[in-house]
Order: sequence, then C-alpha cells, then structure tokens
Amino acid sequence: MSTDKRIRKIVIAGGGTAGWMAAAGLSKLMGKNGNLEVKLVESDDIPTVGVGEATIPTLHIFHRLLGINEQEFMAKTNATFKLGISFENWRDVKKDYIHSFGFLGKDSWAAGFQHFWLKGQQLGIAKPIGDYCTEHLASREGRFAVLPKQDLNHAFHLDAALYAKFLQEIATKHGVERVEGKIDKVNLDEETGYIQSLDLANGKHVEGDLFIDCTGFRGLLIEQALHTGFDDWSHLLPCDSAIAVQTTSNDKFPPYTRSIAHDAGWQWRIPLQNRTGNGLVFCSKYMTDQQAIDTLLANVEGELLNEPRVIKYKTGTRRKHWNKNCIAIGLSSGFIEPLESTSIHLFQRGIIRLMQLFPYDGINEADVDEFNQQTMTEIYNVRDFIILHYHLTERTDSAFWRYCKNMPIPETLKHRMDLFGKSGRVYKKADELFGENSWIQVMMGQGLMPERYHPIVDMMPEEDLKGFLQNVEMGVRKKVDSWPNHHDFIQHYCQAN
Ligand code: FAD
Repeated sequence: MSTDKRIRKIVIAGGGTAGWMAAAGLSKLMGKNGNLEVKLVESDDIPTVGVGEATIPTLHIFHRLLGINEQEFMAKTNATFKLGISFENWRDVKKDYIHSFGFLGKDSWAAGFQHFWLKGQQLGIAKPIGDYCTEHLASREGRFAVLPKQDLNHAFHLDAALYAKFLQEIATKHGVERVEGKIDKVNLDEETGYIQSLDLANGKHVEGDLFIDCTGFRGLLIEQALHTGFDDWSHLLPCDSAIAVQTTSNDKFPPYTRSIAHDAGWQWRIPLQNRTGNGLVFCSKYMTDQQAIDTLLANVEGELLNEPRVIKYKTGTRRKHWNKNCIAIGLSSGFIEPLESTSIHLFQRGIIRLMQLFPYDGINEADVDEFNQQTMTEIYNVRDFIILHYHLTERTDSAFWRYCKNMPIPETLKHRMDLFGKSGRVYKKADELFGENSWIQVMMGQGLMPERYHPIVDMMPEEDLKGFLQNVEMGVRKKVDSWPNHHDFIQHYCQAN
C-alpha cells in the first residue's frame, strides 16, 4: 500500500531523549524554507524514563550535523568524557577488562595487531593488550585531552533530562512547536489504516502526514494503535528489570563507565560532573526487586540523591520500525539492553535513516522496506555483540550465569566466536557499529584466546617483533603521560566555553 500524499506535517509523539533528538534533527536539517512543519506532543503528567546517560562516539556525527559545540553541550548537560567501559567480574569474579573505544596497536596489511600480540604473549615479550591502545591506557590512568590531530575516540556521560532540554532549545529555535497534553486517542483512516490525527485529553486535536512514535516503552502509535508486533528476545537477553538511583560524586570521576557484574545482572556507575548515575540491571527470575535494591545500595558510593526507582522492560524489537505512516524511534521501537550504551545511537541512526529515505512525495513501500531492512540488520548486529558478554563467561557461581553460559545463541554469533577462537580472525561486515577492535577486546576480555596467530607473523624475526611491540607501547605511553587528569581537563574545558 502506498500513498502519493505529499508529506508536510510531521507529528512527533513524546518528548524524551528520542523525541527531542528527532525534533532537533528534522527541524534543523530539513525544516528550512517552510519545507516541513514539525510539532512535538508531550505530557507533563507522563514522566520520561529518565535514564540513558552513557553514549558511544557516534554521537559526534549527530552533534556535527546539528552544529553543536562540544564545550557548550558538556557544560549544559554536566557531561564527562567516556573512553570505554570497564567490565568487572564479567569473565569471572575479580577478572576485569576494559572495552575501550580505541584501536589496538597498528594494523598490517595481512594480519591485525592481535596476531602480533599473540605471538609476543607466547614468547613472553608482550604486555597486556590494553597497553597498546591509547584510549585503554588513558582510561586506566584517568587522563584525558582533546588536542588538534591527536583526538581521542571519545563519547560522553550526560544528564538525560538536561540533554533533552538542550535539544529542545535547538528544536524550538528551528521552529518546532511543542504541544502540551496527554494523547488519548490515535485516529486512523478507515480505508488505509494510516494515522490521521491525535486527540489529546485537553481537547486539542493534532493532525499530521507522518507520525514519529517516541512515546517510550508504551509504543502508543506503533503498537497500541497499529499493532505492529514485537519479537521478544528475553531468552537471549534475560534481564528484564532495572533499579536506578543517583548519588553525590567526588572529583575523581573516571573517563569510563563501570559495569560491575553481580549474581543476577550487573550494575552501572556513570560519572557526571555533579553526581553519579547508578543502576542495577537484573533478571527478575533470579532476583526480587527488593534484593536488587539492597544489592545496589550496598554497592554505591556517596550520598543518595533520590529514592531507588524500579523500571520494568522486555528486550526485543518491533517487527517493523516503519509501519504505514508511523516510524518508531526510541524505546517504542524496542530495547536491547543498556550494557554497551547503544540506545541513543540507535535513535540517532533511525533519525538519520529517515532523513535519507524521507518520503517527500508520499510514502512508497520500497522506501519503507529499505528502512526496515537496514534497521533490522543493524539491530541484529548490536544484539549479538551484547549477548556475547553474557554468554562468553567462565562464571558458574549463580543460576543466572549458568543460564547465560549454557543458553543457545544465534548462529551468527556462534560463527564469530568460532572464527576468532580458531584463528584470531574477526568476522567483518560493512557498516557494523562494533568493529574489529570492539569484538577483540570483549572476546579476549571474556576469556576467548585464539588457538593460533596468523602464520605471516613468523616472517618477522623475534627481535623485530620485540621492537615493534615496544615501539607501539612506548608511543601510547608517551601520549598518555602528556595528558592531564580527566577532572582537571573538564574543569578547564567547560569553563573555557
Ligand atoms: P521516554 O523517556 O519514556 O519518553 C517518552 C515520552 O513520551 C515522554 O515525553 C512522555 O511524556 C511521552 N508520552 C508517553 N505517553 C504519552 C501520552 N499518552 N501522551 C503524551 N505524551 C506521552 N540508552 C543509552 O544510550 N545509554 C544508556 O546508558 C542507557 N541506559 C539505560 C538504562 C535503562 C535501565 C533503560 C531502561 C534504558 C537505558 N537507555 C540507555 C535507553 C534510554 O532509556 C533512552 O536513551 C531514553 O531514555 C529515551 O527514551 P525515550 O525517549 O524513547 O522514551
């Protein structure tokens, strides 16, 4: 079914992170010359989910498109820098590693750095793999710098509520109209099933040509009105609950997120300039809400700033992310799990993809199918990467970890693990979010060491290999030694704005 109705009026339902990202992106990049009229409907009576404070480096792409100044953004959202995630107790209790955003060593045309490192390990001349990666070492040492031509591959920790406000300012400046009110009814065209308008509880009526559902887990338009369907991935990603609480912070905030595994889930610690965001993601089959609250509160630092809040969710994806004239962006489109901070990235990808395939002259099924197919490919890749962390573990100390270790996994993931385990090679697919460096760091960090390295490494005499490894390591060390402490850097950087 297609429509040749020209698209002029966009209605965004919901004003959390997803809604305001969509509003800012569409208005700034496509709303000029009266091209589009963008309205955003949100209700002061329905709070946003209020978490989602760790990001990945791709956020720079979105910020560049919007012309956002990094210093201003950081000052307004109390942001800190993030160079990766410290995974603690994931491989096994007291076995930790860092998944940093950086590159490991230097690549050669024939084999990745891991092959050279593996031989170095066997000869006893290699240091831990993280010593060959700038972002990794800088994380461990709590250092940071933004220097011309020496930029670290970084992301941010931010205050989600302040970020939504910051984006709202941009959107409003570019003509987005905010409509206050609770959506009571979604009106569908009887013939086509397309959404025609929204009725609000306060009597307002909002009409549109294209609707973006950013109403969060409710999926008010995409699911409750259009019954698009949901694929449940709870058997692969069994955590279904979270507790969130904020605490005061000290001035030693690290440039990374902490992810600390517990008996039936994991705890996040996200450092902001003025406070710390804490949470425990857990599986309700193995832990009650009260046990989760007790576990979290026993493991936070600083004073509590609010009461612990329970959030329930189901991991999985909407069967279509674009259905008729409705596109789901945000939690309404599904939720994988916050372990690698991928949600905001997926929102941003959805917004950019919509702009790339924007149906100016009417919606046609080819565009819709392309949008859905690209989105699904991306989500499956992220899903497999997240499952890897749970499945590839040596932990057998609780029923939860035994389940994760023994659960059947997708063939796609099994292939990646087999390939790396046998030969140290990493399966590569164009356009994947998590590249070779991410897969290597997590597979090795979780304890999967390849059986052999690439034979081409044997072409290099041992002395040369030693020199090569030392060279890379000293280069990394020299750079990191010249950078200031993360906290000091932020003080200076945000004040300079
Ligand atoms: P919400 O924040 O729920 O916003 C929904 C909006 O819809 C609100 O404005 C509400 O008022 C409006 N609304 C709903 N119903 C109606 C109605 N009937 N009428 C009018 N308005 C309505 N993401 C990351 O990238 N990094 C992370 O570290 C991360 N951590 C997370 C941790 C947890 C435990 C969870 C659950 C998620 C996490 N996420 C993370 C994802 C994160 O939640 C989202 O980034 C973010 O909060 C966006 O949600 P949203 O905008 O889709 O929905």
